[in-house]
Amino acid sequence: PVDTETSSYTPVKAPRGNTISCKGWQQEAAMRMLMNNLDEEVAERPRDLVVYGGTGRAARSWDCFHAIVNTLKSLDNDETLLVQSGKPVAVFRTHEYAPRVLICNSNLVGHWSNWDKFNELERAGLTMYGQMTAGSWIYIGSQGIIQGTFETFAAAAEKHFGGELEGKLIVSGGMGGMGGAQPLAATMTGACFLGIDVDPERIKKRLKTGYCDFMVNSLDEALRILKNAVRKKENISVGLVGNCADVIPELAERGVVPDILTDQTSAHDPLNGYVPNGMTFEAALELRKSDPHAYNERSLDSMARHVEGMLKLQKMGAVTFDYGNNIRTFAFQRGVKNAYDFPGFVPAYIRPLFCEGRGPFRWVALSGEPSDIHVTDELILQMYPQNRILSRWIDLARKRIKFQGLPSRICWLGYGERAEFGLAMNDLVKKGKIKAPIVIGRDHLDCGSVASPFRETEAMKDGSDAIADWPLLNALLNTASGASWVSIHNGGGVGIGYSQHAGQVTVADGTDEMAKRIERVLTNDPGIGVARHVDSGYDEAKSFAKEKGVKIPMGQ
Ligand code: NAD
Repeated sequence: PVDTETSSYTPVKAPRGNTISCKGWQQEAAMRMLMNNLDEEVAERPRDLVVYGGTGRAARSWDCFHAIVNTLKSLDNDETLLVQSGKPVAVFRTHEYAPRVLICNSNLVGHWSNWDKFNELERAGLTMYGQMTAGSWIYIGSQGIIQGTFETFAAAAEKHFGGELEGKLIVSGGMGGMGGAQPLAATMTGACFLGIDVDPERIKKRLKTGYCDFMVNSLDEALRILKNAVRKKENISVGLVGNCADVIPELAERGVVPDILTDQTSAHDPLNGYVPNGMTFEAALELRKSDPHAYNERSLDSMARHVEGMLKLQKMGAVTFDYGNNIRTFAFQRGVKNAYDFPGFVPAYIRPLFCEGRGPFRWVALSGEPSDIHVTDELILQMYPQNRILSRWIDLARKRIKFQGLPSRICWLGYGERAEFGLAMNDLVKKGKIKAPIVIGRDHLDCGSVASPFRETEAMKDGSDAIADWPLLNALLNTASGASWVSIHNGGGVGIGYSQHAGQVTVADGTDEMAKRIERVLTNDPGIGVARHVDSGYDEAKSFAKEKGVKIPMGQ
């Protein structure tokens, strides 16, 4: 929809090594991470500046991208660049401990916060969709989500199948930036996996990166492979080219009931994400351009069919959950009154982790050297030998995850652990055991940084699902604590108007100054997550806060 001037496209790759072209590592890190988000190995559609998640962009246009890079190169160590929905709009003198970049993406005043208004303003060149880590320059490819997906499937296994997924079948839609992690996460847990995507190119990408084993064009073929694999308890993944609004109801008709059923099509965006059924993929892309209104209507109808299919399979015994793309809401709006009969994944599996400040923590080696990440792998294994899930994950990741762009790692760490591990990494940079600084960040899908009533804050104990003060406080707190860049976004994984969320990234450059900032940010950032859950009345969070000394004035 927005003119991203693709004609002038030349592939982007972040510089590697120790020589910097900015005036300090903080600015250099922001520049490299922006570029890394758009690396062809990392982004889904780099020509259009789209990183992942429907139209989640890293910059508003190529002109804006170049202007951000040039500004970062000349930015002094006591200046702060302001980015308004992917466009650099001002530089102010602040101070050395302040963030070098402050970012706001896709925010609209409440009453106007909907897709129609957003699309109109985006067409006018006034905004862009920032998703979560796309517009805040800390996306690290499919690895970013794979551990969360792995843990979610493992949690479902624990809750419903005695911890075992061997000989079980997981079915899901969408093999894009996030969804593409599902086949590998599923086979890592021992399960078989069927992924349905309307775009064969997305499935091919997963084959190329080793995330998915097979690609087929018919459901018969997919089921032949999978039934055999389930019987033999082999963990095999199949990508089927098809539309979920056709395939999911067909599974129900044929009586093929998955053990676990979810969805990661980009349903959060009915116009530029989800693809309607009843026409070829190419015809749908044509219609999107020629008649957006008709497309939108067909897209919503298809989501209704898709969710009806999921509900049928749920009734037939499939453990079914919404995987954070808001598909239930659109189906509900289209007349599927029982759309919320299946739960969101956060209340189902993740909330107890949030109560302890746990969330998707990640780090990136600015040297570009895989060996730097291997050093951090060793470090984390040494520091938390008693954490069985973490050790299992690091082990599997080392064997099976291919780096995309700058080498990086993700794992869920909690309050206390994040600061401890961040400081230890800063120390390794200081001692030269790691070749260049490490960027430390996280997803916006975290314990205290998001308000999203159909995802992270669904069914909060005190009913505070739609209270959006928490992510704003989170961004203010991270700014005050000295993060390297901080962002506030609207929309994320569930679409415009449905969520408010914040991000922070902090650079471990080996200095004493950064050690102080890392300790503050990585304590306070998950700390507000604990506070948010104490405030909502969760006993687990209350006892955790008490044990760890998180000060909460009215906490008991
Ligand atoms: P993406 O846009 O990169 O990929 C979406 C995929 O869905 C595309 O490959 C597209 O071809 C396919 N698709 C669209 N409509 C389809 C249909 N009807 N049938 C079959 N395939 C269809 O998006 P992504 O980054 O993979 O994210 C997927 C969704 O998950 C988004 O809605 C995103 O907002 C949400 N999300 C979830 C989490 C999480 O933690 N669970 C995190 C981030 C994003």
